[in-house]
Amino acid sequence: MASKTTDTAPNQHLLTIEGLSVSNITKLLDLADSYATHNRDIGTKQSLLSGCTQINLFFESSTRTRTSFELAGKRLGADTINMSVEGSAIKKGETLIDTAMTLNAMQPDVLVVRHPESGAAALLAQKVDCSVINAGDGTHAHPTQALLDALTIRRRKGQLQGLVVAICGDILNSRVARSNIQLLTTMGAQVRVIAPPTLLPASVDRLGVELHHDMRLGLNNCDIVMMLRLQTERMHGTFVPSVREYYHFYGLDYDKLSSAKSDALIMHPGPMNRGVEIDTAVADDIDRSLIREQVEMGVAVRMACLDLLTRESRTQDGKQ
Ligand code: ASP
Repeated sequence: MASKTTDTAPNQHLLTIEGLSVSNITKLLDLADSYATHNRDIGTKQSLLSGCTQINLFFESSTRTRTSFELAGKRLGADTINMSVEGSAIKKGETLIDTAMTLNAMQPDVLVVRHPESGAAALLAQKVDCSVINAGDGTHAHPTQALLDALTIRRRKGQLQGLVVAICGDILNSRVARSNIQLLTTMGAQVRVIAPPTLLPASVDRLGVELHHDMRLGLNNCDIVMMLRLQTERMHGTFVPSVREYYHFYGLDYDKLSSAKSDALIMHPGPMNRGVEIDTAVADDIDRSLIREQVEMGVAVRMACLDLLTRESRTQDGKQ
């Protein structure tokens, strides 16, 4: 599915969407789709990853992603261990690599990593003997979020190709936006980004997207509206005049939503700031909002990633 970092390391990793082909993505989404159906209809625990150890190593706070990876691993029968910065030796000054080497010595099969620095997951992947899944690194990538968003859209709209998807808000600081742009454009969707100029990366014109500063124009006739949080933890300085003004121009309410197609669906990766980037009634609209379904699909996508990435090592080690 994903790249092998070195010739000597037999492990596969999921570090970014970049470089994944249409068939890689389709294979992953198809498998995730079957897990989603299984979770809904049967819901029983499986033993596919029995004997496998999965360590979730989170250097940044997380609610959805960490719980989702934990649940995914447990549903597949893996031994799942959570490690957060609080209560770990990282607090005592241990470096990322030293932490990774310590965990590596415990011979996990998969390391799921979230880190505030872009590139941290790729660095770890070069140092450890197991598969690494990037659960979000700085502003760089969040591949499983893009995959779960794609699965959510595909289940509702039937396909990704030809859809018009608007990604709105803090594009500059968003790893979710980057991974979604890569995945959606690869799969043939038309992507628009809507943001104030201060919240756009300098290289945005190289991403193959249509750029808008006016929300109503940007939303015109689109199929999917994906809202993003203002990621103030990554901002140094002031990027928007005031929250009230930001909401006025870029907050999704029914008035702005009326520019989109009448059956346009709303998404948000969470956590949501109600009244900042999205109106509470819009977020909770059971006919239009996919936000809860995104969380559900997150577990299925992570089950598919864990399954695919460990296939080779499970066969080699006789764990299957
Ligand atoms: N949960 C997403 C992330 O980790 C989006 C966000 O934090 O706003 O990037």
